[in-house]
Amino acid sequence: EKPSYKWQRVLLKVSGEALAGDHSQNIDPKVTMAIAREVASVTRLGIEVAIVVGGGNIFRGSSRAGCSGLDRSSADYIGMLATVMNAIFLQATMESIGIPTRVQTAFRMSEVAEPYIRRRAVRHLEKGRVVIFAAGTGNPFFTTDTAAALRCAEINAEVVLKATNVDGVYDDDPRHNPNAQLHDTLTYHEVTSKDLSVMDMTAITLCQENNIPVVVFNLTKSGNIAKAIKGERVGTLIGG
Ligand code: UDP
Repeated sequence: EKPSYKWQRVLLKVSGEALAGDHSQNIDPKVTMAIAREVASVTRLGIEVAIVVGGGNIFRGSSRAGCSGLDRSSADYIGMLATVMNAIFLQATMESIGIPTRVQTAFRMSEVAEPYIRRRAVRHLEKGRVVIFAAGTGNPFFTTDTAAALRCAEINAEVVLKATNVDGVYDDDPRHNPNAQLHDTLTYHEVTSKDLSVMDMTAITLCQENNIPVVVFNLTKSGNIAKAIKGERVGTLIGG
């Protein structure tokens, strides 16, 4: 009998920072391989996995806008292009260990990847392929966290799993306060009213409005990605 897991279809958000690992360059191949292995282990169980990749390891529009006349929209388009680089790297790693993977971009780059077509993305997932969504929402002034919330809602995934370099959401900055406590659960309201830096406001309210739970967890701990995808307790669960 097929064991049943908490989630059937998940949206995994991998930030650019997480992809950088401790590598001196933009993408640490050890991180992409760890993600690929753990995702492989859960797709074998029949869980459908879609991924939204960030780009902050290469370029973040908000922090570069204004330099040498670079306007915010142009900077953000460069940021979105950065996510495509990460997506292609991750796809190559996944396919190298036998996971069929498709990249879909929010704006057309058809020589490189498929355009985002919602129904086609869902079909890929149903066939057991991993779908990586790149180029964020395709719009400047947004983030890939918002893209994660949006794609999650669109493809009817059940949860946003936000993979980061920290164990979850703390009541204070654990790098400065050794007594900072990790929250096991939080409500959307607690996140927004206390301005906890989980994801930007646009992303978290989109999750709230669509009743999409968010799990914030540490991807650098081996086994955590698979645990999060299977719905085992890890990190901080935001909902209700
Ligand atoms: N970006 C954007 N629209 C989107 C998603 C991303 O303009 O819908 C740009 C923005 O400049 C952002 C960059 O792409 O700084 C990289 O994405 P993000 O900062 O969300 O990546 P992460 O923090 O996850 O690495």
